[in-house]
Amino acid sequence: DVLGGDTTLADLPLRADLRGRSPYGAPQLDVAVRLNTNENPYPPPPELVRDVTEAVRQVAAGLHRYPDRDAAELRADLAAYLTGATGVTVSAANVWAANGSNEVLQQILQAFGGPGRSALGFEPSYSMHPILSAGTRTDWVPAPRRADFSLDGPAAARAIAEKQPDVVFVTSPNNPTGQSVGLDDLRAVLDAAPGVVVVDEAYVEFSSRTSAIALIAEHPAKLIVSRTMSKAFAFAGGRLGYLAAAPAVIEALLLVRLPYHLSAPTQAAARAALRHAEATLGSVKDLVDERGRVVEALRRLGFTPVDSDANFVLFGPFAEADRAWRRFLDRGVLIRDVGIPGHLRVTVGTPEENDAFLAAAEDAVAEIAAQTE
Ligand code: PMP
Repeated sequence: DVLGGDTTLADLPLRADLRGRSPYGAPQLDVAVRLNTNENPYPPPPELVRDVTEAVRQVAAGLHRYPDRDAAELRADLAAYLTGATGVTVSAANVWAANGSNEVLQQILQAFGGPGRSALGFEPSYSMHPILSAGTRTDWVPAPRRADFSLDGPAAARAIAEKQPDVVFVTSPNNPTGQSVGLDDLRAVLDAAPGVVVVDEAYVEFSSRTSAIALIAEHPAKLIVSRTMSKAFAFAGGRLGYLAAAPAVIEALLLVRLPYHLSAPTQAAARAALRHAEATLGSVKDLVDERGRVVEALRRLGFTPVDSDANFVLFGPFAEADRAWRRFLDRGVLIRDVGIPGHLRVTVGTPEENDAFLAAAEDAVAEIAAQTE
């Protein structure tokens, strides 16, 4: 007997273009081994927890005031991190931050997409790109990848030239397939694009490829590189995404962002977490090694994993991916059915979690073999 519970979605004066759509919905289940949302499996070290707690305690005394609307100090810290990580000199004026890179991407679509405009992406890719496009009433234009899910630069450039989208999304490394995109293919995309190109580098720390940030100087009016602290930085719960671009791009985003969108605790906690970047990012090498081990073991079991530059692996084939997903869940291992026929995606976890996953995968193989005998 929930108040108003008899009213259904169909009773609401919802926008016609949102009717029948599904929300983003990675299952949040209480399972022992959760390898479905590409987080860093290692919790923050005690020093980081202490620092975050102390930083938030300090800003708590000033919570009667709005936070710094422009998050100047946080952006300076992020710029310093990017400069160190990429070798490209990035200033605070080149950086923008929001509550997760999802909000960054939404702000980009609010400014550069919208009614009468379109956004193109190469599918399969991150499911939020079309969802955010729908929310901002930006027409979504899907374009293909190669059969092995990698991005074909020249073909991508031709699709862009034909469709003339206002926004192009390139996810590198791509979620859920794992491959990253080289600078030459990105240049082909940038040369062809009439509008902005968003390179979504949520998983870039796990890749050995050069960041697209190296191309901002060549294409300052087009290129936006989005990043997040949710993955390698082990800060998914802190909700901090950011981008690098020419300062003019950030001026454009100021027109659409909500005032005071980043809370004072968020800014303080993110700055404290950044001070421990070396420790948190230290896990990247271990996760990359574990990725190699998981891929090898899957191959030995007879699966065909897709080569990955990220902290997850897409693998198959399954006759019915949804039934296979359930089999893993029954063994206490939550992975992801990303809607690609015959495939499932697993996040690289701790060695123990990966062992549990591989044991479940071995059971799945045995079960499939028994059924087909
Ligand atoms: N981009 C990609 C490619 C992702 O996979 C994700 C998270 N699943 C995001 C952006 C958004 O992450 P967040 O909002 O936590 O930064």
